[in-house]
Formats: sequence, structure tokens, C-alpha cells
Amino acid sequence: VTTLADVRALTSIDYLIVGGGSAGCVLACRLSERADLRIVLVESGPTFSPENEPAAIADFTVRSFYNPDFMWSGLSAHSRTSDSPAIPYAHARVLGGGSSVNGMLAQRGLPSDYDEWLTMGVTGWSWRDVLPFYRKAENDRSFPGPLHGNAGPFTLHRYKRTEFSGFERAIGDVVAGEGGAELADLNGLEEEGFAPMPLNLANGRRLSAARAYVTPGVMKRPNLMVLGHTEVRRLLIENLRVIGVELHDPSGQTTVRAKHVILCGGAIASPALLMRSGIGDSAGLSRLGVAPVIDRPGVGRNLQNHPTIMLATLLSRAGRHHEQRPPCVSAIRYSSGADGCGSADMMVSIMGSVPVPTEWSPIRTRIGALMAILHKPYSRGQVTLDEKGEPLITFNMLADQRDYERILNGWRYIRRLSASTRAAGMAHEAFVPLTLGPTTDTLRTAIVSTAASIALDSSAIMRRKMIRAIGLPISQVPEEEVALREWVGMFTSPANHPAGTCRMGNPSDSAAVVDSRCRVIGISGLSVVDASIFPTLMRAGTNLPAIMAGEKCAAEILEDGRA
Ligand SMILES: Cc1cc2nc3c(=O)[nH]c(=O)nc-3n(C[C@H](O)[C@H](O)[C@H](O)COP(=O)(O)OP(=O)(O)OC[C@H]3O[C@@H](n4cnc5c(N)ncnc54)[C@H](O)[C@@H]3O)c2cc1C
Repeated sequence: VTTLADVRALTSIDYLIVGGGSAGCVLACRLSERADLRIVLVESGPTFSPENEPAAIADFTVRSFYNPDFMWSGLSAHSRTSDSPAIPYAHARVLGGGSSVNGMLAQRGLPSDYDEWLTMGVTGWSWRDVLPFYRKAENDRSFPGPLHGNAGPFTLHRYKRTEFSGFERAIGDVVAGEGGAELADLNGLEEEGFAPMPLNLANGRRLSAARAYVTPGVMKRPNLMVLGHTEVRRLLIENLRVIGVELHDPSGQTTVRAKHVILCGGAIASPALLMRSGIGDSAGLSRLGVAPVIDRPGVGRNLQNHPTIMLATLLSRAGRHHEQRPPCVSAIRYSSGADGCGSADMMVSIMGSVPVPTEWSPIRTRIGALMAILHKPYSRGQVTLDEKGEPLITFNMLADQRDYERILNGWRYIRRLSASTRAAGMAHEAFVPLTLGPTTDTLRTAIVSTAASIALDSSAIMRRKMIRAIGLPISQVPEEEVALREWVGMFTSPANHPAGTCRMGNPSDSAAVVDSRCRVIGISGLSVVDASIFPTLMRAGTNLPAIMAGEKCAAEILEDGRA
């Protein structure tokens, strides 16, 4: 266990990495491969050696999502405008970051997502440029060949169609019946259809970035220190050069010097740290009482996220999994057809079971869900600071009318799919999930949920009771156009894919925060490498892309010799 005293005793630190999340773990691993460099990784949440990984993180039913020890406490966000109510927002705070608590969906996005960045002043990130780093990261168990990697630390697994539940297969049948394709690979090219979901899963366990990259061998490297439960609150800057950081841990605060600091805090924390340190919109910072160091108005702007809307259903015996599976093992990629929104702009994530907080609850396999995800949003939000220097998040979701129309259509689509699964005998009543019930592992929870699960199969009255306890019956969702629009606006939620708040771009572009090699523009000794650097969201979750970015930037940092 590394202590703050150990770090302070170091005579020099070459690279200090702030945040041990998806990208941070990759950087810690790759930079410490060079034995002559001294690397310190600072993580504000708990850290652990791979052999002591908490069971809830390893568990592929995604229990870790509900563990407050692995999340930033008190974080909230305005889903719509800043006048909309702030709702609690989940953001990881643990070694492995999002990859330790997420749904394990491991997609790359589509080639044109990256090629588009060329038009935004970003060089070296076209599909051709990023593919080698995806291949370096991945060990894709399903596909050899030039599109996939087979020797990297990050294992990807796909379930076969024969392993899908009746509910999942019924959705595939609807897609096929409407002329849609059945795809083998969502990490291939620009194709649409029903497909197995690539998952970061190995040997029946979640494979987080921590487990994949900060292995027992990496942990033992004498030139790497991993410091947990310690937050970097501020950067120390002299003459437009970062010279170190201010650290806070439960025993107090201190400063540490480093030759180069790499921010990997994620799309919420990285811009917040820059702003607290005086890097951001000067006028805004002055109003908050922070002395500006450099005017970079792009910091915290350009916040993007995928809007989602969900419809759950109680599954029949024929519709459900009879063995444990991760919540989502298949999906549909499709085009909304909306003007100017390109192709493959939508996804339906098919959940054959749902994550629940308790370790042992048969309820999780009794519920299925369909989540429509708007994969190519045009609305933009912002991260700013509150008076205590904590992040204030406004997603501004659906502000762009194109987004509103497409999520509305996404809702109509999942409603239709859900009705088909009921007609096929795979599901009972549909409902909009609001809560998942008991949250503690007690004998009472186990007994009550087992009894309820058994009763659900035989009693429509029990099913109605259960639905009223945890959600909104589908019959209460308006169908009339005006009322439905309003309802969809209220029930659309942000995914956990914030990105874009320290975006890459040309140094002459005042909205850019880092250049195409992830160096903060106008400040030396400082890079940002995490989901905040992406100029636009890819049509995918952000985990595998953050890992790819970690691989790419680690190679460039070593090439440049930034320390
Ligand atoms: C609940 C949930 C479900 C998700 N599901 C999926 C999914 O299925 N598929 C997918 O592709 N993506 C998913 N994501 C998103 C994906 O996991 C994240 O986008 C990805 O992990 C981001 O990586 P990152 O490197 O940008 O930062 P993160 O992984 O968020 O890591 C940042 C780390 O930095 C630490 N940190 C922050 N600030 C400081 C500081 N000042 N000092 C010290 N440490 C600091 C944090 O504690 C955190 O551990 C999900 C995310 C969540 C939260």
C-alpha cells in the first residue's frame, strides 16, 4: 500500500497521473513499462491489488454500480436546462473508474465517428489512426483479422445467439421480420442490425481497466506507485508551467512536485480541476473568485452525453435467462432516418435481466428492459463550478429539436418491440422502471424477493402489485401526441457517457482545450487523457474509446519524452 509519505519521499516524479480510471490505468501500465521513469497514479477513490478486487466489482451482474463506496458522493446534474431539477448522477470513484462499475458494453463506435474529427481541427485521430490502438488494447475472443486485436490486455467476449434468452431472441426475430440484418460484430464497420454485444468480460468476471492493466506484475514494478483515497484538488502552476499538484487525503493536504501531470479524472472531474486551478473562461473564473491563469473558454463546454429512455417488462418463464448473464448481451443498431442525422444514429440496448443492488435476488432475472439510446446527439451542455469548487453539471439534453424527435421515435420503437415480445409469450406486462426495490442483502430481502419471484409467474394480481411498487404501468403513459412529447421529455435520462469538456482541436481554436496530442494548449507540463478530450461522442459507450485514448497517448507521451 502506497502512502502519501512514500510519495513525498520521492526525489522526483516524472509523470503524475490524476485519476486511476479507464484511461489512467492504461497510462500507469504503459508509462511504467519504461523502468527509467518514475510514475505516480493518484486515485481519489479506493484502490486495491488485483487479487483483492472487491467481489461486487468482479461480479458481472453489475452490483458495483449500486455501491456508494465506488461513486462520487453528492454529485448531481441537470438533465435538461439549468432550470430543470438536479438529479443524482452516478460517476465512478474507484480504481478502474467507470470500467469498474459500468455495464461492460465494449464498443468502439464507427469509423466515421473518428473521421469526422478531422473536420474539427483534430489530426492523427482518423479511423485509420485509432484502429492500431484499439487492436493493441484488445484481445477479441470472437474475431481474428486486421479489424481486431487478439493479443491485448482487454478481453472482449460475445455471447452466442444460442445463449440468448427467449426475450432477446424474440427481439432479434422482430428485427429479422422487418428485413433487418443479424450482425456478427458491432465493432466492425458501418453496419446496422441486431447483434451480440461485445463485453469486457473474461472467465466469468468483469474485466475492468484496473484488472486488465494494473496487474499483479504491474503493481510490483518498483517505478510505479498507486496512491488511493487521495484527491488532487489543484494544480501548482508557475509561469504557465505545471510544476506539481495539491493533494488532499483523510489526514490533510500537501503538495507534491512532478515533471509532467496527466489528468485522467474523466469528463466531469478533469475540467473541474482545470477550472479550480485557473484554467478556463477567465471572466467566469473571476466571478467565482478563482484567479485566472490562462483564458481557455472551452474548458467545461461542449459537454455531450447519450440521452436514453427505458421500458421494462416482467418476463415469462420462457422469456428469461435461467443462468446468470450480464444485463445486456445484445443490441440493435439502427438509423432514425431523421434529416441530417446520418446513419446508425440510434441503438436499442436489450437487457435480458437488470442489475439490482443485492447480491442474491431472483428478481433481477424476472425483469427485462429495452433502452433506446440516442447515439448521435446534437445538444451540448456544460460543466462549471459551484461556490465550493465542486462540479455543476448541466447536460441540456434534448435542447436540439433533432434530439427530441429521435428519442421520441426511439420510445415508440421500444414500445412496439416490447409489445411483440408479449405477443410472442416472452413477456408479461410492460412498465417504466422507477426504483428497483430493496437495497440491502438481508435474509428478509432474500425471502421476500424469492417469494415474489415465484408468485410473479402465476398471478397477474401479484404482477400488477409489483409493477406499482417499482414503476409506472405502461397504461399510464400517455399516447396522445402532445402529452406523450411532454412525458418523453420528463422520462429521458442521461447515460453515464459524459464527454467533450476538454476537447481536442487546433491550438488556434479558442474552443479547443488540448491539442491533437492531448497537451493543454498554452500551459506546459500538462496533458489531459480521458473521455473529456473527444470532440464529439462516438456512437458507443465511452469505456473502450477511453482505453484506446490511453494507449494512443501513452505511446505519444513516451515518443515526445514530456517529462
Ligand atoms: C454506471 C456507469 C455505466 C456505464 N456503462 C458503460 C458501458 O456499459 N459501456 C461503456 O463503454 N461505457 C460505460 N460507461 C462509461 C465509461 O465507463 C466511462 O466513460 C469511462 O470509464 C471513462 O473513462 P475515463 O478514463 O474518462 O474516466 P473514469 O473511468 O471516470 O475515471 C476517472 C477516475 O479519476 C478519479 N478522479 C477524478 N478526479 C480526481 C482527482 N481530482 N484526484 C484523484 N482522482 C480523481 C475518479 O475517482 C475516477 O476513478 C458507464 C459509466 C458509468 C458510471
